[in-house]
Amino acid sequence: MLRHAYRLWRELEQASGQKLLHITGIAEIGPPESALVTGTLRCAAMHGLRHELLPAPDLMRRFPAFRVPRDFVGVVQPDGGILKAEASVLAQLALAAAAGADIRSGESVRAVEPRAGCVRIVTDRGSVEAGAAIIAVGPWVQTLLPALAAPLRVTRQVMAWFEPTDAQLFPPGRMPVFMIESRHGLHYGIPADASLQPGIKIAKHHHREETVDPAAYDQTVRSDDEALIRAALAEHLPAANGRLVAAKTCLYTTTPDGHFLIDRLPGASNIIVASPCSGHGFKFAPVIGEILADLAITGTTGHDIARFSLARF
Ligand SMILES: Cc1cc2nc3c(=O)[nH]c(=O)nc-3n(C[C@H](O)[C@H](O)[C@H](O)COP(=O)(O)OP(=O)(O)OC[C@H]3O[C@@H](n4cnc5c(N)ncnc54)[C@H](O)[C@@H]3O)c2cc1C
Repeated sequence: MLRHAYRLWRELEQASGQKLLHITGIAEIGPPESALVTGTLRCAAMHGLRHELLPAPDLMRRFPAFRVPRDFVGVVQPDGGILKAEASVLAQLALAAAAGADIRSGESVRAVEPRAGCVRIVTDRGSVEAGAAIIAVGPWVQTLLPALAAPLRVTRQVMAWFEPTDAQLFPPGRMPVFMIESRHGLHYGIPADASLQPGIKIAKHHHREETVDPAAYDQTVRSDDEALIRAALAEHLPAANGRLVAAKTCLYTTTPDGHFLIDRLPGASNIIVASPCSGHGFKFAPVIGEILADLAITGTTGHDIARFSLARF
């Protein structure tokens, strides 16, 4: 799926005339026996992905901003990068509209009901009858489908942007995307780039594991949230431990196995539920779109989606 996603992102860039995917490389850093390092190496071997395994001293020589214990290693993949998320969504919407899609922003779906031979979609403004419906409402999936037999959890996440104290250690185009598994947990971040974002973005994956109601959760960023993120920054990326430029909350929807949920609803095969979730779905967006279009139009797809099934729950 990932290989195909790279092709489709490049096609989207061509069709929209915009640069959306910025290749920076990615460094995944931790103890050799950590889940991050062993998992990354296993994936790279399984799928023939370009990578290098660097001992800590070599990693710190190549990327002098990192400070990691001598027994850590870094797996560096040159093909990692950053997607401009909002611009990507807007580009896809614009192409859909140009292809004839009727996009209704700011209209809330209240119910999706199976009918004989069609689906009725009830919104706060009226209703629509369609041949098929795809429900892709992120953290709100169980609000719209309370009877869905899937153990989805919604958790509050926090991400923050910091001003580097030593900009020389972050030369433009030379700092990779990174993930670090350490005694502080698993943190990830992306380098500063004035055209993309202010400051270096850092977050703790699965921040506090706080389960929340997506309609009513605390969207303020507290000092203890900042402290959780700064702990890893202070130890492993001290030159990025500067002024807090911005901070935001958002939501993860997670499944117990970390895989997505993409399936047709039992008893209503023309209603498809799609939750490309667990904090890693965005990069696959164009492939997931292709899968969903296949399912809505033909009822099946050539992509292998067995691991995303509802039945596994
Ligand atoms: C902090 C954070 C970092 C992440 N980092 C990465 C990353 O590095 N790489 C990666 O690949 N992925 C990442 N992700 C995950 C990625 O953002 C998600 O996988 C992806 O956004 C899921 O897409 P979605 O369409 O399922 O849901 P969403 O993007 O949540 O979209 C759902 C949409 O449905 C709308 N909606 C909800 N209810 C209704 C309703 N009743 N009627 C009408 N509309 C409705 C919402 O307004 C929203 O626009 C991250 C997520 C978070 C929170």
